[in-house]
Amino acid sequence: MEDQAVVLYSAPAIGHLTPMVELGKLLLANRPSFSIHVLLPSQAYDGGTVSPYIAAVSAAYRSITFHHLPPTSLPPDYSTTSPHLETLALELLCLNSPNVHRALVSISKTSRVRALVIDFFCANALPVARGLGIPCYYFFSSAAGGLAKFLRLPVLHRTTTKSLKDLDTVLRFPGLPPLLPSDIPDLLQDRNDRAYELLLESATNMLMASGIIGNTSEKLEEEAVKAIKDGKCVPDGPTPPLYCIGPLVASGDGGKAGSGGPGNDTPECLTWLDSQPRESVVLLCFGSLGAFSAEQLKEIATGLERSGQRFLWVIRNPATGKGHKAVSTGEPDLDALLPEGFLERTAGRGLVVKSWAPQVAVLNHGAVGWFVTHCGWNSVLEAVCAGVPMIAWPLYAEQRQNRVFMVEAMRVALPMKEEGDGSVSAAEVERRVRGLMGSEGEAVRERMRYLKEEVKAAVSPGGSAQAAVAKLVESWDIV
Ligand code: UDP
Repeated sequence: MEDQAVVLYSAPAIGHLTPMVELGKLLLANRPSFSIHVLLPSQAYDGGTVSPYIAAVSAAYRSITFHHLPPTSLPPDYSTTSPHLETLALELLCLNSPNVHRALVSISKTSRVRALVIDFFCANALPVARGLGIPCYYFFSSAAGGLAKFLRLPVLHRTTTKSLKDLDTVLRFPGLPPLLPSDIPDLLQDRNDRAYELLLESATNMLMASGIIGNTSEKLEEEAVKAIKDGKCVPDGPTPPLYCIGPLVASGDGGKAGSGGPGNDTPECLTWLDSQPRESVVLLCFGSLGAFSAEQLKEIATGLERSGQRFLWVIRNPATGKGHKAVSTGEPDLDALLPEGFLERTAGRGLVVKSWAPQVAVLNHGAVGWFVTHCGWNSVLEAVCAGVPMIAWPLYAEQRQNRVFMVEAMRVALPMKEEGDGSVSAAEVERRVRGLMGSEGEAVRERMRYLKEEVKAAVSPGGSAQAAVAKLVESWDIV
């Protein structure tokens, strides 16, 4: 019998790759005869994190093959006024179309390619797949709320001539709580920016996809999912079918994205958690890139110390400049970064971990009671699966809109309040963390208990996520 292949095309970031690979594993679990091919663009991956991850997945799953696409480069005279690093990544991805074409043709020589599944950053591959007669699906690795907004982007673009950054109205999208223009990711703020142009093209291409695969659960984002499925986000045409197959959370068996990480194999923090009372510890961990200024780190430390609360805090080297993304991979010098005597004074009730902690394992440890998160979607799903309520402190990408969804729609988090300049004071950290274990947090905790069971049921046999995967795979049989 002819080999049946599904090709997954990931964007160049570990936070996009790991859920894509989890999707591959899910498809394999549903249809073990499939072969899964993952196309990896050459640029911008952090080799230190990704190479061991790929090696581990390849060793654990013989049916998953990774294909490194050849490097692409921009013309020597290329220049852009876009201030975003991602613009360059998007431009390079556009140049990948011939490589994707070659890879699909090559895989087609030995297999029947059932589908190409693309990240929404890789939208240029859609016409390539269509040209080859291969059904193309989008994999949306963030919230359904973000998807509802993304689908609506072409409408928003047509109904105003202004950039989001110049709008002073509240934005109302079907199925979503009201959003401020500043909640929308930076890449979409300026309609004259090249990143905006490319993402608008991606949103427009999405409407031509054979389907959208969402890494979320219907119970978690009921209203957003309903708005999309009811066609409310695309008023002037059909919406591709949405398959909510999540939450996909890295299992830790293939690669360490969710269970280990660069430079930290020792579960010392887990041993420490063993000695802490149940649900007593606040975890502070800010994704694969999240970083603060040296001043902000000191504010957090002061707030934590004054709160009297137990904590486990993952600290990365300070971000340079205005952003919140780590650029240095070196180990942080805690003595230089933290207030003098902080570690000694908080010893026993607090633990600081340098750079990386095994977040999934930590969240699933019974001693963890709350999670201060940067609102990266993988982190949100991991917390929901572990039933740990959150404090939302967004730093970059789509995290500000995620905070609105988490606080207003999903009701799984309390917000951390920023100052006008985006910083968070020691007093706010203290207030927030101190108040958690009391009644203020109880409603969120209760909601989390409920959702944990709901999402567990969704991914169990007979659940809605399982049904969505089965429906997706079966739709390929009748093509
Ligand atoms: N992560 C981890 N330990 C850390 C920091 C991050 O295991 O110290 C993992 C986390 O569990 C999640 C991923 O890295 O799976 C971060 O993804 P997310 O979407 O939350 O944020 P991003 O890094 O893409 O901003």
